[in-house]
Amino acid sequence: MSILTIRNCLDPILRQKCGPIENIDGNLVALSQDMIETMFDAPGAGLAANQVGIAQRIIVVDLGIGTDKINPVAIVNPEIAAFEEEMTGEEGCLSIPDLFAEVKRAKRVELKGYDLDGNAVRYEAEDHLARAFQHELDHLNGILFWDKLGKIKRDLLKRKFKKKLKEKSP
Ligand SMILES: [Zn+2]
Repeated sequence: MSILTIRNCLDPILRQKCGPIENIDGNLVALSQDMIETMFDAPGAGLAANQVGIAQRIIVVDLGIGTDKINPVAIVNPEIAAFEEEMTGEEGCLSIPDLFAEVKRAKRVELKGYDLDGNAVRYEAEDHLARAFQHELDHLNGILFWDKLGKIKRDLLKRKFKKKLKEKSP
């Protein structure tokens, strides 16, 4: 396993709609293991393939998010089948490091997809996990969390991000 480089929000692949996965093979299994290692190393609770430069529909999420358990899974071709109620909560993104904002999301979702053996899987999630599912699904569709904010808040975050980037580069 290896730790992959996480692309930041300026990389065009973060704006790309990722393509469906036709074949689950050894490469995909290896990718998902690397993604899980990369997610925990960051540290984060979810990661979409385009964040590590692969424009394909696979995400990894720690199902234990918000609890003291760790339970990472990879989900292939995920889709949100149902959204219920709304909640607002703090959200961040590994591609927009160190910046957070209050984002409105569905409180409960039903997510469907496939595991790495090609079996259909279905998860009912609420609160933190529901937020993580929606956030990672958005990535696969080229959407970033700040797209959910008003223009003024979004522009403020973008300026902060660019300032941090400048500070980091020599
Ligand atoms: Zn993200």
